[in-house]
Amino acid sequence: MNKVPVLVTGGAGYIGSHAVLALEDAGWPVAVIDDLSNGSREAVPPDVPFYEGNIADRALVERILGEQRTQAIMHFAGSIVVPESVEHPLKYYANNTLASHALISAAVAAGVKHILFSSTAATYGAPERVPIDEDDPKIPINPYGASKLMTERMLEDAAAAHPFNYGALRYFNVAGADPEGRAGQRGKGATHLIKIACEAAVGKRGHIAVYGTDYPTRDGTCIRDYIHVSDLAEAHVAALGWLVEHPAENLVMNCGYGKGLSVLEVLDAVDKANGSPLERIMEGRRAGDPPELVAGNARLTSTLGWRPKFADIDIIVGDALRWERKLLERMAPAAS
Ligand code: UDP
Repeated sequence: MNKVPVLVTGGAGYIGSHAVLALEDAGWPVAVIDDLSNGSREAVPPDVPFYEGNIADRALVERILGEQRTQAIMHFAGSIVVPESVEHPLKYYANNTLASHALISAAVAAGVKHILFSSTAATYGAPERVPIDEDDPKIPINPYGASKLMTERMLEDAAAAHPFNYGALRYFNVAGADPEGRAGQRGKGATHLIKIACEAAVGKRGHIAVYGTDYPTRDGTCIRDYIHVSDLAEAHVAALGWLVEHPAENLVMNCGYGKGLSVLEVLDAVDKANGSPLERIMEGRRAGDPPELVAGNARLTSTLGWRPKFADIDIIVGDALRWERKLLERMAPAAS
């Protein structure tokens, strides 16, 4: 396969940095653009060309695409927090939809051949059935999901009119960290369940809040399909290879294991990994949360031949917790 030069937007962020590692491990030439609003410079390996800036900066993006002879873009840069999107919807339409418009425009002008987009299960809204298939109705219930769905639509229309193909990977709940300890979730102000629970486990927080115990689920808490970030990164490399080999076709697929866990089940796994129980405080529902999201992943497994390596909540939580301890050690003054 022709391993073309890839630009990773948001490559200093959580999922993007794991994708950079997976691309490098598989021998693809990689460069990164990230404005470091949430990402960290240290997350990008030193041998990877790094550009600090925003993807909406058309002049910068065009310069990078030329310098790097970019033929493919993996597009992760964006805002990702559901409740924040409810409070600040225009931020989400700016950072996700408008910025993607600028990036796609620059890519079309530069003749980029493949764009792989980081989309989300939030495009489905509150689905009528689970597992969710890609063709099921997409009726987002929060601005985050809407902002991503608009970008998918832009890509679909632009790919029909211009000579590039695209993939949209709809992630379910991404968690864990590189099993070799090379990367993990940094970023301050975490909002995602497993990250927050691991922060509580290492003592950065006093307790963990459970948002909503009256959902129509087996234990009243929300059900999500948690996927290990390194399995997701592998899915990106496989999807990019597929786009290169099928230049006349596009790819839209769910990324998840097809198995749902409740908030309480996840917290049980964290307690087990930690060896002692976290204090749980039951609170009301959080804005914008659908009760249950589980991926139908037949396309992912059949089209890409992708097989997960870490499809076990104990592995996900174990890797996340190890990473959190590592972050804590780095913060702590060296022991004498
Ligand atoms: N959640 C929780 N406590 C937290 C963070 C999240 O109970 O401190 C719940 C949240 O309400 C949702 C699930 O955990 O039901 C997953 O939320 P997360 O923010 O991790 O991902 P999302 O599904 O919103 O993308």
